[in-house]
Amino acid sequence: MPVSASKDYYKILGVTKAAKMKEIKKAYRDLAKKHHPDINQGSSKSEETFKLISEAYTTLSDSKKRKQYDQMRSQGTGAPRGSGRSYRGGNPWQGAYDYARQYTRQGPREDFRDAGPRPDFDEEPQFDPDMPTQGFDLQFMLDIPFITAALGGTLPFHYEKYVTCPECNGSGLNTDQDACPVCEGIQRIVEPVSVNVDVPGGVADQYTLRLQGEGACGRNGGPPGDLLLKVCIQPHPRFRRVQSDIYADITIPAELAENGGPLEVETLDGKETIEVEDGTLTGEEYRIPGAGSRERTSKKRGDFIVKFRVAQAAA
Ligand SMILES: [Zn+2]
Repeated sequence: MPVSASKDYYKILGVTKAAKMKEIKKAYRDLAKKHHPDINQGSSKSEETFKLISEAYTTLSDSKKRKQYDQMRSQGTGAPRGSGRSYRGGNPWQGAYDYARQYTRQGPREDFRDAGPRPDFDEEPQFDPDMPTQGFDLQFMLDIPFITAALGGTLPFHYEKYVTCPECNGSGLNTDQDACPVCEGIQRIVEPVSVNVDVPGGVADQYTLRLQGEGACGRNGGPPGDLLLKVCIQPHPRFRRVQSDIYADITIPAELAENGGPLEVETLDGKETIEVEDGTLTGEEYRIPGAGSRERTSKKRGDFIVKFRVAQAAA
C-alpha cells in the first residue's frame, strides 16, 4: 500500500502524533469494528472509511513506514522517491558493461588476422604470433541459493576454459617440430575446471562477481583472463528480501491469533520460537532484530520480519 503524505493518518485513527503502538492498535481495532464493510453492508461510505483506516494503520503500525511518513509530512513532499526499492552500491549493470568493454578490447585478438576487411593503412600493424597475449575473460550466470546470498558463503562453480596444453607446454609443437597431436598446434586445450566462489553476504541480484585470473589462459606467457559471474539469486518459497530485511508470510490459526501464544517459525538461522500477541490481526508484524540478511558494505544484519495472516475460522 502506498504511503501518502497528503492524508493525516493520525487524525483518521483519532490519535495524537505521539501515540504509542498500543494506542494505535486499539484505535484501529475499535474503528475497524465499527466500519467493517461486512457490518455496514452496502455502504460505500463505510467501505471508503474502512480503507482509509486500514491504510493509516498499515503505515503507523510499522515503525519504518511511520518514520518515513512523519518525515514526508514535515517536508511536505508527495510520494516517496524509490521507497525501499533502490539498490545501493552502484549500478548493477556496471559489471556487465565492463565485461562488454573488455570483450571488445580482448575478444578479437584470437582471430586478429582473419577479422573482416583489413584497415586501409599504408603501414599495417604487424601481428606477432609469439607476442604474449592475455587470455579471454569468461562470463557465466551463477545461481545462488537465497540463504547463501543473504548470509554469504562459498559455492563451487564448474566450467570449461582454455588451459595451456600440458602435452606441449603451450609450444604447439611436438619433439619433431610438428603440430602437437593433443592441441593440434593451437597451444591450448579446453578443460573442465572448478573454483570456489566467495559469495559476499547481501550480494545484489544481477551483480557481477569478478574472479581474477580464473578466465582462459594467456598465450606465450601472457596472463590469464578473469572469470565474471553474474549473480542470479534463487527465490525462496517462504522468504522475501527487501534490502537487508527478510520477510516471511506466516498463516496462523484464528485461535492462536485471538489468544496469543508461542509459535515456531523458520528463520535464516533455523527454527525459532516467537510469542504471538493476543488479538493479532492479519498484516501485523513480528520483528526479530539482527536476524535478516547481511548488509553488503557494513556486514551488519537487517531484521527478520514475520508477517501474520490469520486463517479464517472454520464455519
Ligand atoms: Zn599441445
